[in-house]
Amino acid sequence: MVAALDGLPHRLLADAARAAVDEARADASAGRPVDPDAVVAAARARVDAARHALLGRVVNATGVIVHTNLGRSPLPGDALAAAAEVASGYSNLEYRLDEGRRGSRHDHAGALLARACGAEAGLVVNHNAAAVLRVLSVLARGRVVVVSRGELVEIGGGFRIPDVMAESGARLVEVGTTNRTRRYDYEHALTAATALVLRVHPSNYRMVGFVESASLPDLATLGPPLVVDAGSGLLDADTPWLGHRPGWLGDEPGVRQCLDAGATLVTFSGDKLLGGPQAGVIVGRTDVVARLARHPLARAVRPGKLSLAALQAVANTYLDGRAAELPIWRMATAPLDDLRARAEALAARVPGAKVADTEAVIGGGSLPGRTIPSAAVALPVGDARAGAALASLRAGRIVARAAGGSVVCDLRTVDPSDDDRLAEALVAAATVP
Ligand SMILES: *Cc1c(COP(=O)(O)O)cnc(C)c1O
Repeated sequence: MVAALDGLPHRLLADAARAAVDEARADASAGRPVDPDAVVAAARARVDAARHALLGRVVNATGVIVHTNLGRSPLPGDALAAAAEVASGYSNLEYRLDEGRRGSRHDHAGALLARACGAEAGLVVNHNAAAVLRVLSVLARGRVVVVSRGELVEIGGGFRIPDVMAESGARLVEVGTTNRTRRYDYEHALTAATALVLRVHPSNYRMVGFVESASLPDLATLGPPLVVDAGSGLLDADTPWLGHRPGWLGDEPGVRQCLDAGATLVTFSGDKLLGGPQAGVIVGRTDVVARLARHPLARAVRPGKLSLAALQAVANTYLDGRAAELPIWRMATAPLDDLRARAEALAARVPGAKVADTEAVIGGGSLPGRTIPSAAVALPVGDARAGAALASLRAGRIVARAAGGSVVCDLRTVDPSDDDRLAEALVAAATVP
């Protein structure tokens, strides 16, 4: 009983008890029988539901590595330690210890991330959507931004490039066609009112077949500044921290390569392929980054010290060439044989369970259509019972999926330290009616 009540403030417990008693009273006055044990059980169920709804850890058995609904990237230990260290006391967040005067919160993670991708300067904001909005409203309000028709995409969560453009006060000029846009199309659209040319990573959307888009060097030499919204932001397309470039990365571009190709600014997410905390990063030319940092809007989207401390640790990991240790890269590159061995061990502990071949994905709107071979433990419960079995797993804060009448737990996204918990939850799910 005490354990079941753990973790909720007294007021919420009292609310749950009161609601259960009110229900029983209504039953009694309607002449229905009231069982005192059932009233206690109903109160307990309400407490469980309230506790379950609190923000907390879950086990991600979906095989989607950067799962936006599940908090995107798990952070590495040193990022958590850095956040705890900075937040448990005061810090030099906006203070220059060398000169004893006010400093900038962009001097830390922003500068390190710029180093890590070969940019002159860097700036961190809350998330990438804020980065894009900020760049457009500061550099292009009341002026024109030229974008290919093939890149007027919705990233997800209602983030639509044309809407963001309207919100920023910039005027969108579309060029080319949905499937083909050439340098010449951009060139013809340029006028004195053109503030910049925008290239948007189509993210969760991929076009194949009769397609063409202008190369970045082509766009960078048009005249106006070139801004690239890289979104999922692979810092370096050559993934030097892995020692090789895995095939499933496809032709995913790198922030470093966009800058090398002549982009003035590149924006990307801190928590997608970077594998850090939620953040938006703007890197590029010093004068332009400084202009963005000085703008009054900067304050509205500035990141907190917890995020900055964690991001600084992640930036150092990339600078040190140790990024393969980051949880998203560890999960993405875990050897298939290791995952199969874990799946076999789990299947042996759960009556009726089997090992299944699966396809994990990076997720977070990255690399659509690209998958990483993976292994799962699958529990064949039949289509009729799959929903109840998944609900039973969710009661233990495990999120899995159903396929072909089985509950499928992909092990690429499950930390091995959670395997015991997964086995126990699967044993329980196997007996759900
Ligand atoms: C994900 C993404 C965004 C939004 O980034 P958030 O960090 O989720 O705000 C914007 N543009 C592109 C291309 C993206 O992939």
